[in-house]
Amino acid sequence: MKVVAILPPSEQVQAQIGMVRALFQGHTVELATNAAELEPHLSDAEVLISTAFTPLTREMLQRAPRLRFIQVAGVGTDHVDIEAARELGITVAAVTGANTVSVAEHVVMVALALLRGLIPAHNQMARGEWSLPYWIAHARDLQGKTVGIVGMGRIGREVAARLLPFGVTTFYYDANPLTSEQENTLGVTFLELDPLLGECDLVTLHLPLTTDTRGILNRERLFRMKRGAFLINTARAELVDEAALVEALQTHLGGAAIDVFSPEPPPPDHPLLKLPNVVLTPHGAGVTQEAQGRIAQGVIQNVLRFLEGRPLADVAVQGNR
Ligand code: NAD
Repeated sequence: MKVVAILPPSEQVQAQIGMVRALFQGHTVELATNAAELEPHLSDAEVLISTAFTPLTREMLQRAPRLRFIQVAGVGTDHVDIEAARELGITVAAVTGANTVSVAEHVVMVALALLRGLIPAHNQMARGEWSLPYWIAHARDLQGKTVGIVGMGRIGREVAARLLPFGVTTFYYDANPLTSEQENTLGVTFLELDPLLGECDLVTLHLPLTTDTRGILNRERLFRMKRGAFLINTARAELVDEAALVEALQTHLGGAAIDVFSPEPPPPDHPLLKLPNVVLTPHGAGVTQEAQGRIAQGVIQNVLRFLEGRPLADVAVQGNR
């Protein structure tokens, strides 16, 4: 069988591909580092290992007549045209949970960085300025703040657990609310989305991107947030009206930590890159060294299951090719 991995170029990926080739003996394993390098393989690839960084469109899937299985190296299958995969009988699976803790730790890091004004203070020091006046005027504690978690799935719950010792009041919104026992353990209270946005000093998004959630944080909702509040988005850029977010950051919000962009990577003149009150990371909340190891293991085990005809883990679409 021909397996093609579309993965960003890095030493770690090269090492993992070497390991994959050794494990998938008897099968052909090719590496493509972007969509252009994938093109020549579409006609005969049977398995694709893919990440959120390379969309797999309906048109691409239609040009892959032998494709039977797409294994996502990470969480979230929104970069794959899921309807097209379903219609064409292509199986799609992810590695859910492998980077849950990594994203949750990232959220705590950027929450503290936003509240303290860490990035501007650091930049001032690096320019040779003494940043204490800025620090005095901006730095705030997390203790006593009101936090809103939008999407209380695997990552949302890990964020809540990590915020508990900080002495915050945590509200959450989810289409499937927790049991009261889970709420008590995590110290969280359910609120509908609009009241939550009006109540919280800090809002963190942990929804998947679906037709229901696309644009869920529209202009009206961004301006419904408290004046001076902070937004953290490690989920997907398309959950938020990006143009309205830029306007809100200039006039209404205190700041934002943004890990996800539309498109990725964002062009150098992307307006979010120019703002003074943002903490920016390159869609990296879930790709710590440890998480990459867990994701690689999850991918390898699931592709081996597929090659050997065994039941798969984390199936999003069950195909019949
Ligand atoms: P999850 O499936 O465990 O949780 C998602 C939660 O959202 C669920 O509780 C679900 O009930 C809720 N939900 C879904 N649709 C909803 C709707 N319309 N309204 C209200 N609630 C809704 O997912 P997870 O593992 O916590 O990951 C969440 C997302 O984070 C992923 O889909 C992915 O896009 C993103 N993610 C980003 C990174 C990164 O590196 N930045 C890493 C991992 C995951």
